[in-house]
Amino acid sequence: MDETPDVNESDCKDCRLLKIACICQYRPNITSAVEFCLLTHATEYRKPTNTGRLIADCLATTHVYTWSRTEIDPELSQQLTNPHYQYWLVYPAEDSVHADRIKPFSMLVEPTGQAINKKHVFILLDATWQQAVKMVRKSPYLNHLPILSLSPACLSQYHLRRGGQAHHLCTAEVAAELLDLAGEKANALLLRDYFHVFSQHYLAARSGHGIKVESEQMRRLTKEYHHEIN
Ligand SMILES: [Zn+2]
Repeated sequence: MDETPDVNESDCKDCRLLKIACICQYRPNITSAVEFCLLTHATEYRKPTNTGRLIADCLATTHVYTWSRTEIDPELSQQLTNPHYQYWLVYPAEDSVHADRIKPFSMLVEPTGQAINKKHVFILLDATWQQAVKMVRKSPYLNHLPILSLSPACLSQYHLRRGGQAHHLCTAEVAAELLDLAGEKANALLLRDYFHVFSQHYLAARSGHGIKVESEQMRRLTKEYHHEIN
């Protein structure tokens, strides 16, 4: 299957928004002590509202794999046995079938409670809630991983998709929650700001215009950008 999204002449080839609503100048370059691994459902790639790619755009260490019902990506298969990484499956607590696998997260210890000398890697299922349930059920290679279950205090600010359940965070918001959990408040804020800027520009582009008034998030990211290049 061709997973390259459709890009029109009028779209920016990097952020994929209309050129008049391009957000590339706001994209932060985030360095983190943790890594993200996106297991993306094939239908997500073509969605302009997909936010998993915002994580990969901001955190260069992010790995992105396409999920398949029948096989595991060989590179992912190899990575899952890498002794230098502690993988976590990030999955909502509502699915009580996996309750015994839910472990408390700490930067300093392994899920077993031993002191850690590995890097934490969060596997995010970049999919709708219904797809995510199916992905977990049909991916036996995820069965041995400890589950990190988020119970976010804030509701999603994501208004782009209709029909979604309000208490489910989108993929980029989940990643920001995890950065918070890792003690990286500044990084979490950068990702939330970029997500906000994306949402704002996406909605404007859908109405055929750019953003005329600079938001607080745009201002913060611009400062960050200038701070980095100077
Ligand atoms: Zn762009």
